[in-house]
Amino acid sequence: MRTRVYPDYQELCAAVAGEIKTQLQNKADSVLVFPTGNTPLGVFKKLVEAHHAGEVDFARAHIVVLDEYEGLAPHDPRSLIGWLQRALLTPINFPIGRTHDFTGGPEACEHRIKSLGGLDLVILGLGPNGHLGFNEPGSSFDSRTRIVDLAPESRASNAAYWGQDVPRQGQTLGLGTLAEARSIILMVSGHAKHGILQKTLHNPPSPAFPSTMLRRLNHATVFADQAAMADI
Ligand code: PGA
Repeated sequence: MRTRVYPDYQELCAAVAGEIKTQLQNKADSVLVFPTGNTPLGVFKKLVEAHHAGEVDFARAHIVVLDEYEGLAPHDPRSLIGWLQRALLTPINFPIGRTHDFTGGPEACEHRIKSLGGLDLVILGLGPNGHLGFNEPGSSFDSRTRIVDLAPESRASNAAYWGQDVPRQGQTLGLGTLAEARSIILMVSGHAKHGILQKTLHNPPSPAFPSTMLRRLNHATVFADQAAMADI
Protein backbone atom coordinates (compact mmCIF):
# COMPACT_ATOMS: atom_id res chain seq x y z
CA MET A 1 0.00 0.00 0.00
CA ARG A 2 1.25 3.48 -0.85
CA THR A 3 0.38 6.81 0.79
CA ARG A 4 -0.02 10.27 -0.72
CA VAL A 5 -0.57 13.36 1.42
CA TYR A 6 -2.16 16.64 0.27
CA PRO A 7 -2.13 20.01 2.04
CA ASP A 8 -5.91 20.24 2.37
CA TYR A 9 -9.26 18.68 1.46
CA GLN A 10 -9.60 20.62 -1.82
CA GLU A 11 -6.26 19.37 -3.11
CA LEU A 12 -7.05 15.85 -1.95
CA CYS A 13 -10.33 15.93 -3.90
CA ALA A 14 -8.64 17.40 -6.99
CA ALA A 15 -6.09 14.55 -6.91
CA VAL A 16 -8.76 11.82 -6.57
CA ALA A 17 -10.91 13.41 -9.31
CA GLY A 18 -7.76 13.50 -11.48
CA GLU A 19 -7.22 9.75 -10.94
CA ILE A 20 -10.81 9.05 -12.02
CA LYS A 21 -10.43 11.23 -15.14
CA THR A 22 -7.18 9.46 -16.09
CA GLN A 23 -8.80 6.06 -15.53
CA LEU A 24 -11.62 6.98 -17.94
CA GLN A 25 -9.18 8.38 -20.52
CA ASN A 26 -7.26 5.09 -20.44
CA LYS A 27 -10.37 2.87 -20.43
CA ALA A 28 -13.68 4.52 -21.32
CA ASP A 29 -15.73 1.50 -20.17
CA SER A 30 -14.08 1.31 -16.74
CA VAL A 31 -16.00 -0.31 -13.90
CA LEU A 32 -15.87 2.15 -10.98
CA VAL A 33 -16.97 1.83 -7.35
CA PHE A 34 -17.94 5.02 -5.53
CA PRO A 35 -18.68 5.35 -1.82
CA THR A 36 -21.15 7.64 -0.08
CA GLY A 37 -20.53 9.62 3.11
CA ASN A 38 -19.13 13.12 3.45
CA THR A 39 -15.55 12.41 2.37
CA PRO A 40 -16.15 11.95 -1.40
CA LEU A 41 -18.53 14.92 -1.81
CA GLY A 42 -15.74 17.27 -2.92
CA VAL A 43 -14.64 14.72 -5.54
CA PHE A 44 -18.18 14.44 -6.89
CA LYS A 45 -18.38 18.25 -7.14
CA LYS A 46 -15.16 18.33 -9.15
CA LEU A 47 -16.38 15.52 -11.42
CA VAL A 48 -19.66 17.35 -12.07
CA GLU A 49 -17.69 20.51 -12.99
CA ALA A 50 -15.38 18.47 -15.23
CA HIS A 51 -18.42 16.86 -16.90
CA HIS A 52 -19.96 20.28 -17.64
CA ALA A 53 -16.60 21.52 -18.99
CA GLY A 54 -16.40 18.48 -21.29
CA GLU A 55 -13.23 17.26 -19.56
CA VAL A 56 -14.50 13.82 -18.57
CA ASP A 57 -16.74 11.35 -20.36
CA PHE A 58 -18.71 8.86 -18.26
CA ALA A 59 -20.88 7.68 -21.18
CA ARG A 60 -19.35 4.19 -21.41
CA ALA A 61 -18.41 3.70 -17.74
CA HIS A 62 -20.13 1.41 -15.25
CA ILE A 63 -20.66 2.43 -11.64
CA VAL A 64 -21.07 -0.21 -8.93
CA VAL A 65 -22.50 0.90 -5.59
CA LEU A 66 -20.26 0.10 -2.59
CA ASP A 67 -22.93 -0.39 0.07
CA GLU A 68 -26.59 0.18 0.86
CA TYR A 69 -28.93 -0.14 3.82
CA GLU A 70 -31.02 -3.29 3.86
CA GLY A 71 -34.80 -3.29 3.77
CA LEU A 72 -35.54 0.32 2.75
CA ALA A 73 -38.67 1.09 0.77
CA PRO A 74 -38.02 2.47 -2.74
CA HIS A 75 -37.21 6.21 -2.59
CA ASP A 76 -36.49 6.15 1.17
CA PRO A 77 -34.50 9.38 1.69
CA ARG A 78 -31.84 7.41 3.63
CA SER A 79 -30.91 5.29 0.61
CA LEU A 80 -27.18 5.49 -0.11
CA ILE A 81 -27.82 4.89 -3.80
CA GLY A 82 -30.20 7.86 -3.69
CA TRP A 83 -27.38 9.89 -2.13
CA LEU A 84 -25.00 8.91 -4.95
CA GLN A 85 -27.68 9.79 -7.50
CA ARG A 86 -28.21 13.26 -6.04
CA ALA A 87 -24.51 14.03 -5.56
CA LEU A 88 -23.14 12.64 -8.81
CA LEU A 89 -25.19 10.42 -11.11
CA THR A 90 -28.09 12.78 -11.86
CA PRO A 91 -25.87 15.89 -12.33
CA ILE A 92 -23.69 14.00 -14.86
CA ASN A 93 -26.71 12.40 -16.58
CA PHE A 94 -25.29 8.97 -15.83
CA PRO A 95 -27.40 6.25 -17.54
CA ILE A 96 -29.42 4.34 -14.94
CA GLY A 97 -28.74 1.06 -16.81
CA ARG A 98 -25.01 1.43 -16.17
CA THR A 99 -25.49 1.82 -12.39
CA HIS A 100 -25.22 -1.51 -10.59
CA ASP A 101 -26.80 -1.86 -7.17
CA PHE A 102 -27.73 -4.83 -4.97
CA THR A 103 -30.86 -5.75 -6.94
CA GLY A 104 -31.24 -9.53 -6.85
CA GLY A 105 -29.07 -9.90 -3.74
CA PRO A 106 -25.36 -10.36 -3.02
CA GLU A 107 -24.74 -13.28 -5.38
CA ALA A 108 -26.34 -11.48 -8.31
CA CYS A 109 -24.13 -8.49 -7.51
CA GLU A 110 -20.94 -10.62 -7.55
CA HIS A 111 -22.09 -12.20 -10.81
CA ARG A 112 -22.66 -8.77 -12.41
CA ILE A 113 -19.15 -7.64 -11.40
CA LYS A 114 -17.64 -10.76 -13.00
CA SER A 115 -19.66 -10.34 -16.18
CA LEU A 116 -18.46 -6.70 -16.43
CA GLY A 117 -14.86 -8.01 -16.37
CA GLY A 118 -14.10 -7.09 -12.73
CA LEU A 119 -13.67 -3.80 -10.91
CA ASP A 120 -11.17 -1.33 -12.35
CA LEU A 121 -11.04 1.48 -9.78
CA VAL A 122 -12.54 1.48 -6.27
CA ILE A 123 -12.81 4.69 -4.22
CA LEU A 124 -13.34 4.13 -0.49
CA GLY A 125 -13.95 6.27 2.58
CA LEU A 126 -12.69 5.28 6.03
CA GLY A 127 -15.23 4.57 8.78
CA PRO A 128 -14.59 5.74 12.34
CA ASN A 129 -14.10 2.07 13.33
CA GLY A 130 -11.99 1.23 10.26
CA HIS A 131 -14.87 -0.12 8.22
CA LEU A 132 -14.66 -0.15 4.41
CA GLY A 133 -18.13 0.02 2.91
CA PHE A 134 -20.18 -1.86 5.50
CA ASN A 135 -17.37 -4.34 6.16
CA GLU A 136 -17.45 -3.85 9.90
CA PRO A 137 -14.78 -4.98 12.42
CA GLY A 138 -14.62 -8.78 12.35
CA SER A 139 -15.08 -8.98 8.56
CA SER A 140 -12.80 -11.56 7.02
CA PHE A 141 -10.28 -10.23 4.50
CA ASP A 142 -11.64 -12.67 1.92
CA SER A 143 -15.33 -11.88 2.57
CA ARG A 144 -17.62 -11.60 -0.45
CA THR A 145 -20.63 -9.36 -1.07
CA ARG A 146 -23.23 -10.04 1.62
CA ILE A 147 -25.84 -8.77 4.06
CA VAL A 148 -24.30 -7.59 7.35
CA ASP A 149 -25.34 -6.24 10.75
CA LEU A 150 -24.16 -2.64 11.12
CA ALA A 151 -21.80 -1.89 14.01
CA PRO A 152 -23.06 0.54 16.71
CA GLU A 153 -20.30 3.05 15.74
CA SER A 154 -21.45 3.02 12.12
CA ARG A 155 -25.09 3.48 13.07
CA ALA A 156 -24.08 6.37 15.35
CA SER A 157 -21.92 8.09 12.71
CA ASN A 158 -24.53 7.57 9.99
CA ALA A 159 -27.21 9.05 12.27
CA ALA A 160 -25.43 12.37 11.70
CA TYR A 161 -26.43 12.15 8.00
CA TRP A 162 -30.13 11.70 8.59
CA GLY A 163 -31.01 12.79 12.11
CA GLN A 164 -33.30 9.77 12.26
CA ASP A 165 -33.23 6.00 12.64
CA VAL A 166 -30.42 4.20 10.86
CA PRO A 167 -31.29 0.70 9.60
CA ARG A 168 -29.70 -2.22 11.47
CA GLN A 169 -28.45 -4.08 8.42
CA GLY A 170 -26.82 -3.31 5.12
CA GLN A 171 -25.40 -4.92 2.00
CA THR A 172 -21.79 -4.37 1.10
CA LEU A 173 -19.23 -5.43 -1.45
CA GLY A 174 -16.95 -7.81 0.48
CA LEU A 175 -13.33 -7.11 1.42
CA GLY A 176 -12.21 -9.97 -0.86
CA THR A 177 -14.38 -8.57 -3.66
CA LEU A 178 -12.82 -5.11 -3.26
CA ALA A 179 -9.27 -6.51 -3.02
CA GLU A 180 -9.66 -8.02 -6.50
CA ALA A 181 -10.10 -4.56 -8.07
CA ARG A 182 -7.24 -3.41 -10.30
CA SER A 183 -6.74 -0.22 -8.30
CA ILE A 184 -8.02 1.04 -4.91
CA ILE A 185 -7.97 4.54 -3.41
CA LEU A 186 -8.77 5.08 0.28
CA MET A 187 -9.72 8.73 0.89
CA VAL A 188 -9.08 10.07 4.40
CA SER A 189 -9.76 13.66 5.43
CA GLY A 190 -9.80 15.66 8.63
CA HIS A 191 -8.42 15.46 12.14
CA ALA A 192 -11.30 13.24 13.34
CA LYS A 193 -9.87 10.44 11.16
CA HIS A 194 -6.32 10.82 12.49
CA GLY A 195 -6.54 7.99 15.07
CA ILE A 196 -8.11 5.45 12.74
CA LEU A 197 -5.70 6.38 9.94
CA GLN A 198 -2.80 5.75 12.32
CA LYS A 199 -4.20 2.28 13.10
CA THR A 200 -4.79 1.64 9.39
CA LEU A 201 -1.16 2.42 8.61
CA HIS A 202 0.55 0.88 11.64
CA ASN A 203 -1.54 -1.77 13.42
CA PRO A 204 -0.89 -5.39 12.45
CA PRO A 205 -3.33 -6.29 9.64
CA SER A 206 -6.37 -7.82 11.35
CA PRO A 207 -10.15 -8.11 10.77
CA ALA A 208 -10.47 -6.05 13.99
CA PHE A 209 -9.59 -3.07 11.73
CA PRO A 210 -10.93 -3.89 8.25
CA SER A 211 -8.98 -1.02 6.65
CA THR A 212 -5.69 -2.79 7.51
CA MET A 213 -6.63 -5.27 4.75
CA LEU A 214 -5.32 -2.68 2.27
CA ARG A 215 -1.78 -2.93 3.68
CA ARG A 216 -1.36 -6.26 1.90
CA LEU A 217 -2.21 -4.78 -1.50
CA ASN A 218 0.36 -3.01 -3.64
CA HIS A 219 -2.42 -1.68 -5.86
CA ALA A 220 -4.00 0.25 -2.95
CA THR A 221 -3.14 3.87 -2.17
CA VAL A 222 -4.18 6.05 0.75
CA PHE A 223 -4.95 9.62 -0.34
CA ALA A 224 -4.98 11.69 2.87
CA ASP A 225 -5.00 15.36 3.71
CA GLN A 226 -2.55 16.87 6.17
CA ALA A 227 -5.23 17.18 8.87
CA ALA A 228 -5.79 13.42 8.86
CA MET A 229 -2.09 12.53 8.48
CA ALA A 230 -0.72 15.09 10.99
CA ASP A 231 2.38 13.56 12.62
CA ILE A 232 1.82 9.92 11.58
P1 PGA B 1 -17.58 9.82 6.02
O1 PGA B 1 -17.94 8.27 6.18
O2 PGA B 1 -16.98 9.97 4.66
O3 PGA B 1 -18.89 10.53 6.16
O4 PGA B 1 -16.58 10.13 7.10
C1 PGA B 1 -16.98 7.29 5.89
C2 PGA B 1 -17.52 5.94 6.29
O5 PGA B 1 -18.18 5.83 7.35
O6 PGA B 1 -17.25 4.96 5.58
